[in-house]
Amino acid sequence: MMEMTLADFLSLPDAVKVRYIRDFAILYSQQFSREDLDAYCRLADACRFLHRQPGGANVMSQLLRHRMALNFFVQPSSRTFMSFNTAQAYLGMNRMSVRDVNISSISKGESLVDSVRTFISYVDLVVMRHSDENAGAAAFWTAMQAHRRLRIEEQDRPVPIISGGSGSQQHPTQALLDIYTLDKALEPIGGIDGKSFMLVGDLARGRTVRSLSYLMKNYRGVQLFFAAPERYQMRADLLEFLDRNEISWQMIGSISEAIDVVDAVYMTRIQDEYDHLATGKHVPATKEFVFTMNHLRRMKQTACLLHPLPKRDEIDPEVDYVEDPRVMYWRQERNGMWMRVAIIAKLFKVDGAILDAYESDEM
Ligand code: ASP
Repeated sequence: MMEMTLADFLSLPDAVKVRYIRDFAILYSQQFSREDLDAYCRLADACRFLHRQPGGANVMSQLLRHRMALNFFVQPSSRTFMSFNTAQAYLGMNRMSVRDVNISSISKGESLVDSVRTFISYVDLVVMRHSDENAGAAAFWTAMQAHRRLRIEEQDRPVPIISGGSGSQQHPTQALLDIYTLDKALEPIGGIDGKSFMLVGDLARGRTVRSLSYLMKNYRGVQLFFAAPERYQMRADLLEFLDRNEISWQMIGSISEAIDVVDAVYMTRIQDEYDHLATGKHVPATKEFVFTMNHLRRMKQTACLLHPLPKRDEIDPEVDYVEDPRVMYWRQERNGMWMRVAIIAKLFKVDGAILDAYESDEM
């Protein structure tokens, strides 16, 4: 039970909220240390490898057979929803989903907090995507208040909440899978430490770039280039965070300005669903921020191109089908599923069982 009202909890700075959240929920990128990130990457690799071994998939599918997951997605989603579903299935979990509030009691005026309290009477895990950036924190507070506890490794724990995207602020599991992808791609040249990254597109409202930028505090000597039209540039709160953590950053006015020097490019689409006068028509990307074949030719041979997807016109479609290992976004998508297996396994503390099976198989 938390000795704090919901309003008091929500009014805390995120850096303080994470002290309460500990490893009970996954809501903010600021929760993770370097040690955590390295462990997640190793575990995602172990899950991927084990699943391919004869009998490995079977071992994994026994681990959480007795657990029920709810995927509560009230904003559109393809990859996050499907990869969480698949990850849960690989771990043997039973699954339910709510994707349309019109068919839940929320449409009868039930508050989010009451809805979550109901969900956690039935399920052992809630993955949620919501337009309200505080929805995940409110759900966590509710899980702390509720009487139901899960017995996990001799400890009573609240029903875990995982953010699958919180408004325009955070998408922590996407950031973890981005780190996993970068970690693998940059491994031959010494990993993420000391590298330069270009983040392109709608940095003001892109929750993926925000969450990824927070994670960069865990790496030494990283440099960030923010390539965006002025109105989509990175917000002051995040720039202050980077300054406090001594991460060097620079705003630039086109992809061309830094394409020859960076070790990875992370493209994003314009998040026009957050426009006040959203017309439903998509806002096109400006020329300077469209990734073309010419950029690919100029990019370092060891660099890589990422995108959280969905993409629109910010990458020339020709780039999609070139045989070039630097074009990494389709593999990034697949990595996401393995990272989500790892995230759930760690929350339910079956990561040790996976690592043991992996290590005994590796020998
Ligand atoms: N799928 C990502 C997200 O949910 C990226 C995007 O929608 O542009 O934030």
